This record gives sequence, C-alpha cells and structure tokens, in this order.
Amino acid sequence: MPSITSKPAPPLSLPSSSSLVTVQAIDTTLCLYVRSENFLNPIIPGHEIYNCPTIGFLITNQETGKQILFDAGGRKDYWNYSPVVRTRFEKGVNVKGLRCDAGVHEVLETAGVDLNALESVIWSHWHFDHVGDMSKFPASVNIIVGPGFKESLLPGYPSNPNSTLLESDYSGREMKEISFDTSFKIGKFNAYDYFQDGSFYLLDVPGHAIGHICGLARTTPTTFMLLGADTCHFPGSLRPSPYIPLPETLSPARFGLDSHFPSPCPCELFTDCHSGHTEEEKRTQSYYTASRAPGSAYVDPDTADISISSMKEFDASEDVFVCLAHDPGLFEVLPLLNDGKGDNVNAWKEKGWKEAVRWRFLNELPKEGKRGRKPLVEGFWRDGLKVSAVEALKR
Ligand SMILES: [Zn+2]
Repeated sequence: MPSITSKPAPPLSLPSSSSLVTVQAIDTTLCLYVRSENFLNPIIPGHEIYNCPTIGFLITNQETGKQILFDAGGRKDYWNYSPVVRTRFEKGVNVKGLRCDAGVHEVLETAGVDLNALESVIWSHWHFDHVGDMSKFPASVNIIVGPGFKESLLPGYPSNPNSTLLESDYSGREMKEISFDTSFKIGKFNAYDYFQDGSFYLLDVPGHAIGHICGLARTTPTTFMLLGADTCHFPGSLRPSPYIPLPETLSPARFGLDSHFPSPCPCELFTDCHSGHTEEEKRTQSYYTASRAPGSAYVDPDTADISISSMKEFDASEDVFVCLAHDPGLFEVLPLLNDGKGDNVNAWKEKGWKEAVRWRFLNELPKEGKRGRKPLVEGFWRDGLKVSAVEALKR
C-alpha cells in the first residue's frame, strides 16, 4: 500500500485577541432521516438515506455576559410549519424520518437559561431545521441573518403563500442582516466580528442556501470552534482531505468506531465504498461533494463545493474544531447542555474531542452495500408515538 503523507494546508490567518466566548452544545432534539440524493453526491449504495441529528450552540461573551444562540433547531409542532414545508413532508421529498421531542427554548429553560437574557438568535440559514419556533422567545430577542436574506425570503407565510418561513418566525422583533466587508477575511471566508472584540466571528459561507453563515468562536486565546451549520450535511463531505488523509489503520477505541470493527482496523473497510479510483484518491478526497440532483438542497452546488474546500483548510488546523450541524459524532462526544451539567466545550483541544469525532462518521458508511448504522428515526413521530404522515401533519 502506498504511504500517504498529508499536504500542508494554506495558512488561515486567524486573528489574535484575548476575548473569549463560552460555547455550550445543545441537542436541539430534532432528529431527521433524509434522502442522500438531495444532499450528497455520489449516491453510495447502502447510504441512500442517512442520519441527521441537529445541534445548536449557546454562546456567552465572557467579558460582557451577552448571550446568543447559534441555530434554533426545529419546531416540536412540526405540523405547524408553512404549507410548503408540510407538503414536502407529506410527499416525502427529503425527509423519511422526523422526531422533535422538545423546542430548543424548552431545552434552554430546563437548563436554567433565562430566555429574556438572550440578545439574539443567529439563523445560519432559513431552512426549517435551523429556524426553530421563534414565537416562543421574548420579543427582545433579535434574529441575525446572512446576506441576501431579507430581499429573497421575506415576507413569510401567510403574506407570501409560497414561503417556507412563517411571519410568526420573525414578526415583532428586530431582524438584522449582516453585511460582510470583503477586506476582512479569515481563511478564505469574509468575516464579521460580532461582539467587536474578536471573541466570535460570523463567516460568509455561500452555496447551500441564500444567506448561509457560520460561526467562529474563540474558545481559548488560540483555539476556535467553527460552527459549520450546513456548509455540508455529512462529515464525509469534509473528510478525508489532502490535509487529513485516512490513516492506513485506525484504532477503534481512539476514534470511536463501533465494536464490531477489528483492532487495529484496516482502512480498506472504509475505502471500499469510496468512488475514488486510486488508493491515494480514496484516502485524500472526501466521500462526497454537493448534490447536483434536480432536487438538490444546494442553491449553488459549485459555490458550495468551493466553500467546502475552504472549510477543509480549517478542518486541517489543530487549533480549529469544525462542527457541522448534522454530524452524529458530536452527540457521542461533546457534553450537551441537555445533560443538565451545563458543561461548556471550550476545552475541546485539551480533551481531544476533535480527534474523537473526526472519523466517527465512518460508522455511518455502508459496509458491503448494507447501511453502517441503524436509522436514528424512521417515519414521523408525534407525542412520542410513530404515526402516519397524514396523522403527523394533522392540525
Ligand atoms: Zn440543516
């Protein structure tokens, strides 16, 4: 087998500052099982539908105490989404399984977070699994959105009968759209210093949806978490990369691989399903690019692939932990606000959590054409019970 060495990634020019935020990870409880065709390219047999749990983050500025939420998950009463979204559920366009046991506002309240103290909720983008149910938040909580949002997506339903958003998602509160100054970049992304102290940046990461933005949180003076939202929808779209090749053998214990894998585990068990032609391609190129299918969830797949490439440069840095919104591995490794301990995730580097998450997605990949992991949810769940789509969407 050829030995594969990692290429050095271009420098990120991470700005310096001593101001920090505290980052807490939230299981929004929204769990989806979605059709790969609209998200991932190519389709790998045995991975035609895949698991999408949904994470959010509570960010607190350590100096001022100002608190913001990055992404609000889904509505617990998903039958009250706008008619366009409900029809898509009914037809099974993307979603083959959906369960949402609590609104993110309930998760926050249970954890003792005062919703009145929240300054704003950042919507990484406008899709139903990120905007939550803002009507449950006090009117003092602002909404932050990315470039082009207001022009393209407002008004919501019912003023615009075809909107995926609801007017109740934003009415009666301030919505601020971020304009990025192209002269300030971190890595290859335009950046915006949210608290004006270098503790938390928003990044302009186009391709998936209009106004798609990410967060870059300074967790120690020299380390960051990149809240990657839906830049891509599966970690196998980021990894492996030329900077982080798949190792020749993996230790299941170190990388959180399922117990049925041998120890050490030869990488062939994971490269068999990769579409690359050579050993080197299979171990240095990501499993997926953005979907180009007619129903692609990417508004601009070419731009999305450029954004994903730029994110790989962050993923290569030992000082940046990239956390995609739908990475199942995060839920197995990070302490969650839901656990009731209120633990933050700032010490991720010291704790080795990036490494512990990095290859966990391999568990999800098919082995000999059969799916690697069971679905997290099949069909629609309502009040703790599995129900038909018709029953699920009844109002
Ligand atoms: Zn999403």
